[in-house]
Amino acid sequence: MIVILEPNLSSESELYQSVRLYLENLPNVRIREHQEHGIQQILTEFYLIGDTAALNQAEIESLPGVERVVRISEEYRILGRHRDDHRPTSFEYNGVIFSQDNLNIFAGLCAVDTPHHVEQMMQALQQHNLACTRMGAYKPRTNPYSFQGHGKDCLPYVFELAGKYGIKVIAMEITHENHLREIEEALQQTGQPTGVMLQIGTRNTQNFELLKAVGRQRKFPVLLKRGFGITLEESLNAAEYLASEGNTRIIFGLRGMKTNMGDPHRNFVDFTHVPVVKRLTRMPVCIDPSHSVGTRNEDPNGILDIMHATAQGVIAGANMILVDFHPDPATALVDGPQALTLDELGYFIEDVNIARKAYEARVLNCQEFFSKK
Ligand code: PEP
Ligand code: MN
Repeated sequence: MIVILEPNLSSESELYQSVRLYLENLPNVRIREHQEHGIQQILTEFYLIGDTAALNQAEIESLPGVERVVRISEEYRILGRHRDDHRPTSFEYNGVIFSQDNLNIFAGLCAVDTPHHVEQMMQALQQHNLACTRMGAYKPRTNPYSFQGHGKDCLPYVFELAGKYGIKVIAMEITHENHLREIEEALQQTGQPTGVMLQIGTRNTQNFELLKAVGRQRKFPVLLKRGFGITLEESLNAAEYLASEGNTRIIFGLRGMKTNMGDPHRNFVDFTHVPVVKRLTRMPVCIDPSHSVGTRNEDPNGILDIMHATAQGVIAGANMILVDFHPDPATALVDGPQALTLDELGYFIEDVNIARKAYEARVLNCQEFFSKK
């Protein structure tokens, strides 16, 4: 059961104290407090854990200071959508809004290689009015002898260049808790010129200790990739690990599933699950067409499979696109064959806009249908 207090109720206030005292005295129930920092308000919620079946919902709802009480199902307690649950599906980070209703493009380098390439990438983003990017510094590689990413050494110039070109959020995978500290230090050292969205990669979706560490910090939002060889339910539970530690600013990322039946793509594209994740949880949903498709193959018209997959995710309501670009894919140290080039950026954005407009038209069409019923 979740007890939602009236917005902006301070923990010093009498109302807050009396509700808390009442809940603490309920038999066989533990309480866990949780704060949602929304765009305009702070929401305090108490999660009641234990023998909640016997509790009187109406009585708790009638307490002064309580706005609503939601009875939750067992699944995805914090992130799930429960019956009569109208909690927000959005958050703001460093001036950028992440929501189940909008769309942000994160085009950038799969792996940081040279300062020059980082600068060329960011300059192109600014020219196209994009304020988010992806920049891999810590790369989890299948082969131990492959390039592992420049790690903390590249962070200062990546962050400084982001500041120079007005980039607000960089999606950056971390594979170890220490990387969190390295990112914090580099941001501090460079004067906080940008923001970072921590990315948990598909190989670490069930690295529970990493999830707990990332969930404990509240500074950075998190992009959690779906595990490529586990069920959707298992991956959504991994997201719940983050939330259960306190960080609910989470985007869920679809990136294709590992199976030979995915051939000729690198992974089996799973973007039909966009609406499923939006129905089951309140998380905005990201698609990664680059790591799903993995090649620059195209249809007879010349439209790349990556662009088709992107359009399929966007027309189904995706809220974020993580996509590999590179100024010179032939020299990229990781995943060059799937990178789009900088001269394709404007064309890519236009193609995304076409699909997004179609999605919005579909939503309107559906609303009209139901309004006539
Ligand atoms: C990536 O986005 O760079 C990446 C390695 O993705 P994934 O974890 O989905 O393979
Ligand atoms: Mn990659």
